[in-house]
Amino acid sequence: MGMSLISRIFFAVFAAAFLLGAASQARPRGDERNAFSSYYTPEYLAYKERIMAEFAKAKPGKFSEFVKYRRKDNDKSMDQKVIALTFDACGGNHSGYNAALIEYLRKEQIPATLFVTGIWIEKNKETFQQLARDPLFEIENHGLMHRLCSTEGKTKYGVHATRNLGDVIDEMELCARKIAQLTGRRPIFFRSATAYSDELANKVAERLGMEVVSYDILAGDAMKASGKTMSRNILNGARHGAVVIMHFNHPELQEKQALELSVPELRRRGYNFIKLEDFSIK
Ligand SMILES: [Zn+2]
Repeated sequence: MGMSLISRIFFAVFAAAFLLGAASQARPRGDERNAFSSYYTPEYLAYKERIMAEFAKAKPGKFSEFVKYRRKDNDKSMDQKVIALTFDACGGNHSGYNAALIEYLRKEQIPATLFVTGIWIEKNKETFQQLARDPLFEIENHGLMHRLCSTEGKTKYGVHATRNLGDVIDEMELCARKIAQLTGRRPIFFRSATAYSDELANKVAERLGMEVVSYDILAGDAMKASGKTMSRNILNGARHGAVVIMHFNHPELQEKQALELSVPELRRRGYNFIKLEDFSIK
């Protein structure tokens, strides 16, 4: 990550301001008293109890943005040069839809991985179904209520965080079930809100059948960077197997412009765009 200290500070300040709106909103959160109360079936609660018991003595471990996840991209037999574009839809006060960006991906036939939250799906049901039906896109899990997954309630940039292990399971498992129910495919990847999580949360994800994914290249849309700046960030960071993070829930941001500028150059350098689930493709 070639991010300077200045941009890190800028990002932190911006993200805090950016998320303040969400914090002031009296959004239900936390447990079965939330908007998804019907998901807390006796079957689910028993399952959750079992998982919690399994991890009862585990320590939270390191809290960070860059988990060591199993990468399939170093598969030596893979003969193509690949890069993965991933886009989050966070929800809450930011439940918009960047239709122009998705249209661009379709026009250019660029496969992409979309990380969605339960709360974003609720506000974009029809759009979500259209995206899920499109084989160009892979739908993955960004959490039920966009809570940062820390088993001890740590947070970053003021974003809502899970309070404990039980909340982490809800965030991961209930969104996975929601997506599976709506699309017929259960997510295999999970990205925590802000991409921060602790080691125990990552183990829980694995236990639930999902791999935690962070990113390699921060395009910079969350800092409202221009298309030109984001394009430069993408091109500077580009390497085989890199995961680029952007968003598709902000129609006002410049992700499409960034791709219009960077995609032709990435193609010229020989990169193929792939979904995360295709990282093991030979
Ligand atoms: Zn997010």
